[in-house]
Amino acid sequence: MPTAPRRACMVAGCLDYVSKYGRCVTHAAPIIKAREARNEPGRHWYQTTRWRKLRARILAAEPLCRHCLERESRPVPATEVDHIDRHRGNAIKFWSMKNLQPLCSPCHARKTATERGHAVARLPEAWGGRVKSLG
Ligand SMILES: [Zn+2]
Ligand SMILES: [Zn+2]
Repeated sequence: MPTAPRRACMVAGCLDYVSKYGRCVTHAAPIIKAREARNEPGRHWYQTTRWRKLRARILAAEPLCRHCLERESRPVPATEVDHIDRHRGNAIKFWSMKNLQPLCSPCHARKTATERGHAVARLPEAWGGRVKSLG
C-alpha cells in the first residue's frame, strides 16, 4: 500500500515535512513551548487568595528587588514575587517563603527567560566591562 503523501511545513521556504501544528519539528517547537507554559502545573495557585496574601507579605517584608540590590547595589522597587527554584507544580516549592524573592519586572523577565532557555539580552555591565578592557 502506498504511503499517503506528507504535507510540507507551512513556514515559507521550509521544505521539511509536517510534524505538528502544520509545521516541521523545528518550526513547531516554539508553539509547543508556549503551550507548555500556558499549561504549567500549579499555574492555578496564582489565582488563589492564599497566593495574593503570601505575595503581599513578601513585598511588604522586602520591598526592593533582590537582584538589583545584591548585584548592583541599586534600590529598585520590587513588583513581582519570583520562585527562586522553579516550582514545576511542586506545592512545597510553590508555597515555601524561603523559595520566594522579590524582584523588579525586568529582573523577573530576565530570570524567567533564562530558566526557559531563551536567548537573554546582554547585560549593560558586560558591555561596560568589555569597553573598559579594550581601552
Ligand atoms: Zn519548517
Ligand atoms: Zn531588579
